[in-house]
Amino acid sequence: MTDLDAQDPLAAYRERFVGTGSDLVYLDGNSLGRPLRTTGERLRTFVDDEWGQRLIRGWDESWFLLPEVVGDEIGRVCLGAAAGQTVVGDSTTVLLYKAMRAAVALRPGRTEIVVDRDNFPTDRYVADGVARECGLTLRWVDVDTSAGVTAELLAEAVGEQTALVVLSHVAYRSAWLADVPALTRLAHDAGALVLWDLSHSVGSVPTSLDAWDVDLAVGCTYKYLNGGPGAPAFVYVAGRLLHGEGALTQPVQGWMGASDPFLMGPTYTPAPGVRRMVSGTPPVVGMLALQDMLALIDEVGMDAVRAKSVGLTEHAITTAAALLPDTTLASPRQAERRGGHVTLNHPLMREATAELWRRDVIPDYRDPHGLRLGLSPLSTSYAEVARGLETVRAVLDSLG
Ligand SMILES: *Cc1c(COP(=O)(O)O)cnc(C)c1O
Repeated sequence: MTDLDAQDPLAAYRERFVGTGSDLVYLDGNSLGRPLRTTGERLRTFVDDEWGQRLIRGWDESWFLLPEVVGDEIGRVCLGAAAGQTVVGDSTTVLLYKAMRAAVALRPGRTEIVVDRDNFPTDRYVADGVARECGLTLRWVDVDTSAGVTAELLAEAVGEQTALVVLSHVAYRSAWLADVPALTRLAHDAGALVLWDLSHSVGSVPTSLDAWDVDLAVGCTYKYLNGGPGAPAFVYVAGRLLHGEGALTQPVQGWMGASDPFLMGPTYTPAPGVRRMVSGTPPVVGMLALQDMLALIDEVGMDAVRAKSVGLTEHAITTAAALLPDTTLASPRQAERRGGHVTLNHPLMREATAELWRRDVIPDYRDPHGLRLGLSPLSTSYAEVARGLETVRAVLDSLG
């Protein structure tokens, strides 16, 4: 234990996660969060009592509404979103598609989707597909891969032709933390809608989606929300887009998002409110682990989670400056512009990462030459970060 761990008010939460008693150094919680110990019991109870005993009755008793119930919890605990605007559903990729199609349909006559070249691949690929499908053009924003999209860059790209702007809150490579309210205002001033991808911020960096006047957002639950591999994503749609004449509709109009699924009627009428973003049968089992992490974050509070996150990334940066002067920081130095991970570049990082994994130190690698340290605030200790970076030093020395 270091002094930093001794002074960390959240240090005790680490042992609530499976595996934190071992010497393994886990610096990839932003790709797949560790499971909570309570999750094993929740899964067992679900099989034995709910699925096993309630059987099909479970749908009426609680499962049918789970996308909205868990969505509202994500909204309240993590997003700064009032109830009735968030649902859990498909993968992030599928929800990006549904949200982008829904958004461009609300801006008929406009011809462009704005997206940055360093956005996560799936966001770029889906935007490209939606543009092709709807006869629109992609307008690319070029960015510095050690930073991200600024107001100046976005201002040059948006205009009266822009239907939709698609951006990530925290850049998956550099951890650049976008100024959501400022960039949202720029999109709105141009008459466009904006879709924020919160995959690398939800559960790590707080948002105030309602106060920031965000239109749409999506995000992962298997990263900082510890929902487990393949846990479903969520989508947020501002209430003002969900009601009245011209309310948003999405393209995958399945029965579970219809106004009365069990009427099984001849035509689709969207459910009132955000339920319309649901398509098919909700992934009930996939939403179990996530509920444990939401309860824990609720107990701790997002502001305390963010304070620890900043502490960890700051510690990684100062330790790397001392131990790894031959690496370059490819993340913002300023904490206010940085999310929950840190990327360090070195020409040998690809080889180094493979060797680190063999030594039970698990960071991630991102081209070009980037070692990405994802520091999940509640399950990572300061000592773990230091041990990880000491091993990086040893591995680089052994390769050099
Ligand atoms: C992790 C991540 C995704 C993942 O999408 P899936 O459909 O869950 O594979 C999407 N967008 C961003 C920005 C991500 O970081």
